Amino acid sequence: MRTFHPVVLSVLLAGCAQAIADPVTSVSVGDWRTYGGTAEEQRFSPLTAIDASTVGNLGLAWSHEFDTARGLEATPLVADGVIYTTTAWSKVYALDAVSGKLLWEYDPKVPGETGFKACCDVVNRGAALYDGKVYVGTLDGRLIALDAKTGKLVWSTLTVDQSKPYTITGAPRVVKGRVLIGNGGAEYGVRGYVSAYDAQTGKMAWRFYTVPPAKGAGPDGAASDKIIEKMQATWDGDWSKFGGGGTVWDSIVYDKEFNQILIGVGNGSPWDRRIRSNGKGDNLFVSSVVALDADTGEYKWHYQGVPGESWDFTQTQSIILATLKIGGADRKVMMQAPKNGLFYVIDRSNGKLISAKNFVPVNWTSGVDMATGRPVENPDARYEKGVFVATPSGHGAHNWQPMAYNPQAGLAYIPAQEVPLAYVSDKPFVARPGGWNLGVNLAINSLPDDKAALKAIRATLRGYLIAWNPVEQKEAWRVDLGGPGNGGVLTSAGGLVFAGNAKGKLVAYAATSGKELWTYDAGIGIIAPPITYSVKGVQYVAVMAGYGGGYGLPTAFAELQGPRPNGRLLVFALGGKASYKIGRALQAPPVIVQNEWTPETVARGAELYGNTCSVCHGGGVRSSGVLPDLRRSGVLGDKATWQAVVHDGALKENGMVGFAKWMTPEDIESVRAYVADRARLLAKEPDQ
Ligand code: CA
Repeated sequence: MRTFHPVVLSVLLAGCAQAIADPVTSVSVGDWRTYGGTAEEQRFSPLTAIDASTVGNLGLAWSHEFDTARGLEATPLVADGVIYTTTAWSKVYALDAVSGKLLWEYDPKVPGETGFKACCDVVNRGAALYDGKVYVGTLDGRLIALDAKTGKLVWSTLTVDQSKPYTITGAPRVVKGRVLIGNGGAEYGVRGYVSAYDAQTGKMAWRFYTVPPAKGAGPDGAASDKIIEKMQATWDGDWSKFGGGGTVWDSIVYDKEFNQILIGVGNGSPWDRRIRSNGKGDNLFVSSVVALDADTGEYKWHYQGVPGESWDFTQTQSIILATLKIGGADRKVMMQAPKNGLFYVIDRSNGKLISAKNFVPVNWTSGVDMATGRPVENPDARYEKGVFVATPSGHGAHNWQPMAYNPQAGLAYIPAQEVPLAYVSDKPFVARPGGWNLGVNLAINSLPDDKAALKAIRATLRGYLIAWNPVEQKEAWRVDLGGPGNGGVLTSAGGLVFAGNAKGKLVAYAATSGKELWTYDAGIGIIAPPITYSVKGVQYVAVMAGYGGGYGLPTAFAELQGPRPNGRLLVFALGGKASYKIGRALQAPPVIVQNEWTPETVARGAELYGNTCSVCHGGGVRSSGVLPDLRRSGVLGDKATWQAVVHDGALKENGMVGFAKWMTPEDIESVRAYVADRARLLAKEPDQ
């Protein structure tokens, strides 16, 4: 910290606390005080010093290396010269926004075994600032308040039943003196909700459950009680066994104009509606946007994009508020481009759909019937008669990576992708309490060994940055990013769009044409959205670089092979000349195991691996480098050590829990047989 006279320092800090007082109505245009950058969550900055004519001179001003190679998804916040960010395992950092000097860090000490409850890496998407405090949701379900000046814990509230597979990865929002937070866990089996806590004390003000209690159970004593019967009428059987899903794990947006909070609600649990709800009903409020009264948390309206959802089509993706001129009238709308591939424009006053159009090829629906607002489903899409290869899939035509909207250009920018997934029912479905419970056999998606076939499949995986005109529901331009799993988006009044990508590049594009104007090679895959801020008249662009997340964790790329380097916060300014070196661990050779197993054992192991292990360690045991490549792991060579890790949980502190609850020692040995088989293949064909 610079040396200030103590009196001067206390005046500065007092000013700091005051300035943080109301992030939503803040007029300090140089700051980035909230998750979505503006009250409308448009991720549009009014700053103009960096524009098409100057961006070519943008260079690294400073960077900060973190202690993790896991995915970094956070949107950093900037207030009064301090940048606040979060990393994997819910750690929190405050740095001087000009010099990069670390001011404080806070480790909430999330138990390593919590990592198993996280479907999509041990990520955190960011903090909220309010009244001199920094609020963060931790992976193990706490909501914590830290002193913004010191990083000291002010209060901590447990927001979940930790005996259930809940996690928090999303950023809290502060609305009217209350901190709003949801949670995740719908791949495992939980019941979704969003809660509001008093920002000063951490005491709960209200909670809204997005899925009803079982018939005959309840009420919950929650804000959702008034609508329980309406919700229950759309469910069948005993959905409460797996909670029903509907987690509010990402979007929570305050719509001041209608005094409401818009929440994005996730997929059903299990995925397959036949298991979840006897194949019947819309299952409110899975895959919906729900508007809640900002004071009471009570229901106002909803729009359900995918009634009776069965594909992991969460509707949690970025919700952006705007006023659009449609048909000559100013319409107060929300825009969303969720996983299912349709771009929605919805009237915020009543939840009525104004328009919907696919922004990538979509095969589960032929479009929305505007008379009913419901999608017209492909009759094969529910994989009742057999395998259905869905595009988009649960990976999402657009996932959590935030999109942005530039009101000057009139365009939304979507980090879009095409990732097909084959769906087939898990028959028979075996409930695995606390583990993954999809009702879908993911193992059929295992990739082939044959190089040509593998190449052909990989060619179907695509990623784009798409500029979308929401009024005309039409694409304005697109950039082909060569593959999926790319970063969130920032746009600015400088006429620019910034987005990072899986290949480790941060790129600036012209907002109206998509022309590439500037590129920085970070050498680290980027999934997080950039932000921009100014301090003392100097504009900066910042982004968290660190690959991982739901797509990146299990996905191997040719471009960035081997163990991933630690992530970094990168901060750029015009004329910046800083640099850094990336430390990379060497690749260990494949471990050749002498044991012989029958082909049946290897096949059994492949099935178990595909359904249980691949979501973290990669399809076909091809590691992304974020987690250890099991084919090269010393553990593979010794049966007893393998059992100690996979059955008993010897490495649970790292997030690798024991699977004794769900697999027998024999099952686990068959997984070893399969991994050993893959290691032998790798030794023969190093490009596998
Ligand atoms: Ca999901």
